Amino acid sequence: MDFRDVRLAARAFAELCLPRSCAGCGTAGVALCASCKQQLRQPPQRISTRVLQHVPVYSLGPYGGVRSAMIIGMKERGRMDMCAVFGAVLRAAVQSLEAQGRLPDGLWLVPAPTTLSNERARGGDPVFLACQSSRLPSAQLLRHATRVRDSAGLSAVQRRINISGAVQLLGTVDAPVLLVDDVITTGATLASSVAVLQSAGMKVAGCLGFSHA
Ligand SMILES: [Zn+2]
Repeated sequence: MDFRDVRLAARAFAELCLPRSCAGCGTAGVALCASCKQQLRQPPQRISTRVLQHVPVYSLGPYGGVRSAMIIGMKERGRMDMCAVFGAVLRAAVQSLEAQGRLPDGLWLVPAPTTLSNERARGGDPVFLACQSSRLPSAQLLRHATRVRDSAGLSAVQRRINISGAVQLLGTVDAPVLLVDDVITTGATLASSVAVLQSAGMKVAGCLGFSHA
């Protein structure tokens, strides 16, 4: 039994012992109630960001309501069971965009970078776990260097260099990739990630967020 098995066993045990409640609205007795599930049924939408203009960016919906509750649940409250829910929604979104010809077939999902310390604290990267749950090919190719210089006191340009310098490439895949993130705001981290992937010769077909703010 390796570390991952122990972690999964501990999670399963916790899920058996702890009273379940809806990650979206708190209703007791279910992981996600029917009404919250219904709110996730939306076609992916194309959004525009300030810094990412050369690749299409899609979102599963605006940040708020059930989406933000699920994201905060995964990141801050140990609700890793929501990774599978996002995985299913992600799979449906990618398949619909592929069917419409807005994304190429044979995509690999690549989660946006996180720091190793964040990942360890959460028992894994929720976005990567959601990508894996989607049963589409996925690979963790990017990571934030642990030491991102404190950006206080830096100019906007310096801040961008500070962030872009911090995205490290862990590997490559020989297929078009879709960058996946939980919340898309300015798109600055995604833009740095796209640049890193492209500089390694990879084709970035687009970006997709579980939500956008
Ligand atoms: Zn609910």
